[in-house]
Amino acid sequence: MRYARALIPTLKEAPSDATSVSHVLLLRAGYARRVGAGIYAYLPLGLKVLRKIERIVRDELDKAGALELLLPALLPAEFFQETGRWDAYGDVLLRLKDRKGGDYHLGPTHEEIITDLARREIKSYRDLPKNLYQVQTKFRDEPRPRGGLLRGREFIMKDAYSFDANEERAAESYAAMRAAYQRVFERMGFHYRVVNADGGSIGGSRSEEFQVLVQSGEDQLAACLQCPYAANLEVATSPPYPRRGPALSELLPREKLHTPGHGAISDVAAFTQLPVTQFLKSLVYVAGKDSVLAVVRGDHEVNEIKLARALGVDEVRLATSDEVRRATGAAVGFAGPVGFAGKVVVDRDAASVSDGVTGANETDYHLLHVAYGRDFDGLAADIRSVVDGDLCPECGASLKLYRGIEVGHIFLLGTKYSAAMNAVYLDEKGVQQPLVMGCYGIGISRLLGALVEQHHDQDGIAWPMSVAPFQVYLAQLGSEPAVALATARLETELERLGLEVLVDDREERPGVKFKDADLLGVPLRLTIGKKSLENGGVELKLRRNKDQKQTEIVALDAAAAKIFELVQQALRVPAASEAA
Ligand code: ATP
Ligand code: MG
Repeated sequence: MRYARALIPTLKEAPSDATSVSHVLLLRAGYARRVGAGIYAYLPLGLKVLRKIERIVRDELDKAGALELLLPALLPAEFFQETGRWDAYGDVLLRLKDRKGGDYHLGPTHEEIITDLARREIKSYRDLPKNLYQVQTKFRDEPRPRGGLLRGREFIMKDAYSFDANEERAAESYAAMRAAYQRVFERMGFHYRVVNADGGSIGGSRSEEFQVLVQSGEDQLAACLQCPYAANLEVATSPPYPRRGPALSELLPREKLHTPGHGAISDVAAFTQLPVTQFLKSLVYVAGKDSVLAVVRGDHEVNEIKLARALGVDEVRLATSDEVRRATGAAVGFAGPVGFAGKVVVDRDAASVSDGVTGANETDYHLLHVAYGRDFDGLAADIRSVVDGDLCPECGASLKLYRGIEVGHIFLLGTKYSAAMNAVYLDEKGVQQPLVMGCYGIGISRLLGALVEQHHDQDGIAWPMSVAPFQVYLAQLGSEPAVALATARLETELERLGLEVLVDDREERPGVKFKDADLLGVPLRLTIGKKSLENGGVELKLRRNKDQKQTEIVALDAAAAKIFELVQQALRVPAASEAA
């Protein structure tokens, strides 16, 4: 490919609304353009990378025995209505009406559609197992599209669905997909972790996410420093702390303390000179129509997903200051569990605070010497986020918090959808049994962003070889016949070896070309000019070794073979790159 004929509109500056590194670099390097909020066009180079991502995914899924098909994106409402997700999905579902007034939506995920196909086409145990997948555009009206391709409203997903005769077989299908996913992310050179996850609106009995570890990640996860335990903060647990301090029978009587203007925990702690770990932080939430008080230790944070799970509801939200006032009779900052008129949920590590301080449900007052079991009751549950240094629930070593980008998510669904939609097969005895399902997603377009988040430096993108739009960038410096000839010859030789080469034949200064080369992120950079020819051939530089400023002169005759070998080396899958 010749640069002068390509469409690679690089930019000096990123548009001001670009929020993440990948967003900035993909726009600046001419891989993508914004069309609307959370809606992007993939330019030729962006599409090339997407196709490579897809190729790796298809390759590993095909090897795992999955079969590709393609379902529609425009869907009649009846299938989501059948499982209740037409309502449950809420505003995230992009709904539309056809000319006759019929209800339709754009597919955010396809469990119902594939289950409908399965109930019609899978009839007997002889048809099992089946694993069906597609690479398709999905639509979710995300409340906060962000980070460019990381969270779009239109995005590309690979979604797969497995159908098995029983739980045991389904667990085998799940394990095979888990292994295929690991190979996919290893081939892309990711530093990632497989973490336990919340099933969310998709549901099921077991689910794991593949989290690419980057500081800019939207998700938080906790991982053990010693063993493979890792979990999204939404489900990460840690054994409860041992109880310290006086027994209930020895605790001093409760006392009211005037704390004028000191609502925030850090303020009251400074004012009372008591450690924050003695505080019972109390936050009013709204769950459906109810006010709920969540109580955690002063140094901990309520995890809203865990709180919702403890309450058995889909979601909770923090009460507004008016709602707090109505629920507690006091200003924000003075809520507490003693005498609270609604449901109280107490984190296990707040329940074991033996001599607590908490809001008095009266503006400007706190209570001293408060303990769960004597001064208040409530549901004790794990409702806080784990923190750095908490103990691993599996091995007892320390947990560490990381940030990540969820690039894949797998679910063991059981019969959630097949039961709701009556998808059954006949077993060996001719008895009807529900199909047991799994579902598996990979964010194809999110991967484009995640790759850049993990593979870049101050000058631009540094693609891993397996997904780079070109393997070789070849700069031609000057238009002397000898230079043009040598460039054309090397281009032909490389392409004959099956390599993808971007020849920078633009009439630009070398500095401009090298800046663009760094921005685009092609792994191998070759330069041919009068100087390199005088020095004996072509100059070779690795994009990733930038800091070392290493260049090497390779004889023209030997260049193609050497480059070919370098590319092959880089494509060999590393033994295991899952983060330890
Ligand atoms: P998130 O928690 O990030 O919103 P999710 O858990 O809702 O994602 P899944 O339903 O598990 O997403 O979808 C499977 C995969 O699709 C995700 O692991 C992610 O890689 C990708 N994905 C989901 N939502 C988006 C989006 N809005 N934009 C781009 N990719 C997405
Ligand atoms: Mg998910």
